[in-house]
Amino acid sequence: MTPDRPRATDEAVRARIAAARLWAAHQAPYLASAVFALNPVMLEPALDEDTGAPVPDPGFRAFPADTRWNLYVEPGTTLATPVEEIGWWMLHQVGHLVRGHAARSPVRPEPGPEPGPKVSPEVSPEVSHAAGPVRDEEAHRWNQAADAEINDDLEAADLRGPAGVVSPAELGLPVNRTAEEYVPMLDVLAQAMGRGGRALAEAIDCGSAVDGQDRAYEDSGSGEGLTELDRDLLERSIAAGIQDRISARSEVPSGWRRWAEERLRPSVNWRARLGAMIRRGLSTVAGQVDFSYRRPSRRAGAYADIVPPSMARAVPDTVLLIDTSGSVTDDVLKRLLAEVTGIIDGVAGPHRRLRAFCCDVRPHPVQVVRRASDIELTGGGGTDMRAGLDAAMALRPRPDLVVVLTDGETPWPGRRPGAQVVVCLIGDGGHAPDWASVARVPPDVPAKGDS
Ligand SMILES: [Zn+2]
Repeated sequence: MTPDRPRATDEAVRARIAAARLWAAHQAPYLASAVFALNPVMLEPALDEDTGAPVPDPGFRAFPADTRWNLYVEPGTTLATPVEEIGWWMLHQVGHLVRGHAARSPVRPEPGPEPGPKVSPEVSPEVSHAAGPVRDEEAHRWNQAADAEINDDLEAADLRGPAGVVSPAELGLPVNRTAEEYVPMLDVLAQAMGRGGRALAEAIDCGSAVDGQDRAYEDSGSGEGLTELDRDLLERSIAAGIQDRISARSEVPSGWRRWAEERLRPSVNWRARLGAMIRRGLSTVAGQVDFSYRRPSRRAGAYADIVPPSMARAVPDTVLLIDTSGSVTDDVLKRLLAEVTGIIDGVAGPHRRLRAFCCDVRPHPVQVVRRASDIELTGGGGTDMRAGLDAAMALRPRPDLVVVLTDGETPWPGRRPGAQVVVCLIGDGGHAPDWASVARVPPDVPAKGDS
């Protein structure tokens, strides 16, 4: 192999990526700045042993991205893929990135003092490359569901995907749903199609941008790409750009309009966001969507020998921690509690006993209730959620998920306690710690149906 060949390959790949970017920006002008914010990272080519020419690696057909907006470009794949198709994947990856699929993913291992369950060794890929076929089934399903969320918006703008990608319309599913909503639909569909010997779609890996799990080909130490802050600013400017285009009566597909609206006014969609976070917290804890691929959870472990895996689902233990310091009215708290317990019932089964307690500067006694309306709100004065969370962690059995309802006018612990924490942050002031999942809720919670 001469040194000239890789250089020639390099240039040909760069030219193709540049052309694909222009195509993508032209097709979807409302996403042009996003397309140009992608940072292409060229991977080592896989070379044909005889000819020395780069050969495509199907594991990279999606031009996978990571959450720092790096787009991984495999030379053989790039040279073998039409420019329009590369451009389509760029728009698709932007979709994963701005919709926060990595952060929303149920697959992502949680950092913190008690690390979440790890992928077991036999499925943990030795990974030469993207490792599509050996990825665990849950990760694969989440990837497909996230693809479904994005692809219908692209199709609405006449940007049809290449063969083998997930399309809700083609699968006969409703459009304009979230990935969280598509997961159960795809499960049912995949089972039905599997009985007929067919697969739902090709095994496509869109990279860690879709599930937050590092891939072997990513150099996570290099720090290349966008920081969290860059990314936040970029997303805001993309959303603002979309709203400008809407004001100027330029064409923007409805899915992207909704996205921009929600990105700029996050409380608009608080109900869906809160629901997604609580469901994610519960399923991460329970392992209920992935029991056959991970070690049994702490709780299920005791029974693992005598109960078949599908029965070994843990029931996640949830505690509600309610800020009754007086700045939030009881009426608002009651409505929110009804919403939160409704979501928990939906995931964990109805009328499960829940533990709840109120907290102002100190925690009040624990109440065990079956319905939100049974919770008695006591307290007043200042707030210290450090005391509240300490008390939650001291409960036996210890909770797996703590849902905190507060206006955020409180000190917080410096690090995450040994449980998942979802903060329902009421009103525009206050703050929540960055180790928690946060949904901002309007100060005057409207009754369900008229938000
Ligand atoms: Zn994808």
